Amino acid sequence: MNIERLKEKIKITKDGTIIIGDNISCDGSSIDKPVSIISHAHGDHIKHFESALSYCNHVITSAQTRDLLIAERGSWLKWRRNFIGLSYGETFDVSQNEHIKLFPVKHVLGASQVLVETTYGRAVYTGDFNYPNTDPIKTDVLIMEATYGCSEDVRQQSEQQLLDQFVSLITREIGQRKPVYVFAHPGKIQCLMSILTNAGVEIPFICGPKDFKWIEVYRKYGYTIGTVLQQGSSEAAEIQKSGSPFISFHRIGSNVPEAKDFLKIRVSAFMAKEDFYELQPNYYVIALSDHADFNGLLEYVRRSEAQLVITDGSRCPKAYMLAREIKERLGIEALALP
Ligand SMILES: [Zn+2]
Repeated sequence: MNIERLKEKIKITKDGTIIIGDNISCDGSSIDKPVSIISHAHGDHIKHFESALSYCNHVITSAQTRDLLIAERGSWLKWRRNFIGLSYGETFDVSQNEHIKLFPVKHVLGASQVLVETTYGRAVYTGDFNYPNTDPIKTDVLIMEATYGCSEDVRQQSEQQLLDQFVSLITREIGQRKPVYVFAHPGKIQCLMSILTNAGVEIPFICGPKDFKWIEVYRKYGYTIGTVLQQGSSEAAEIQKSGSPFISFHRIGSNVPEAKDFLKIRVSAFMAKEDFYELQPNYYVIALSDHADFNGLLEYVRRSEAQLVITDGSRCPKAYMLAREIKERLGIEALALP
């Protein structure tokens, strides 16, 4: 093992590409790296997906993420021989000296952490992940996300407590035969639909065309989701006019004027002041997140037994704070890149 040599071969570019070793880029692409790995299907991790497909020998992701991208971008992707869906734990030999494996993380369906084994040692790139419910991988160098990398980014309530509050807000409202508007990120939308279905909510869900395309993939991988209608379809329009209750899902930041007089719930920890609160009358915020909070990030580092941690500053400026905290609190060498 040679940590210094391994460190020299890891870079993060301003546009978010993580370079590991001689041949590999993650969540981006580099013209001189023949293998591109996609950790998960969220927009800020697939910006270079199609350019990578055009010039990389292999574009590798989990089987689930491959299915999500095919559903989203079109079935032509099925026939791209360099677009590979790997099973978790399966080894892909990049060269004699570099081997990769993907392991699951709790985030959007198919999200993976990437283990690269090289002659100089092991490097793990976490991608985005939630903690607990993600198993840390033992490694020499850890490259990690830093979304909640500030020491104040600590959640008080458990995920289950927040989900219970989400379900009870919704069941109360639909009991009065009123519609509900939910704002969340892609992937979270499908999970929330499944949670409501499992809680016995039987009224129709409505969502936009992009999120609608992912529903079948979630079902394929075991999520139970009730009736979903596509926004803009005649079936959805009929329900919306009928006066019957429905739950309408939208991405965070969407402008939905028709939601004005009804219960609105934003499900995201980003910029949330508390775990659960009423932002305006009848507009609630629930800080459910698929990213580890500050304590979760530190706990992952501790359990990974990494000797060097590199935090991803290309996607979040808190990476610089997080690297400082890792050094001070855990006594582990850490830096933020780029
Ligand atoms: Zn993500």
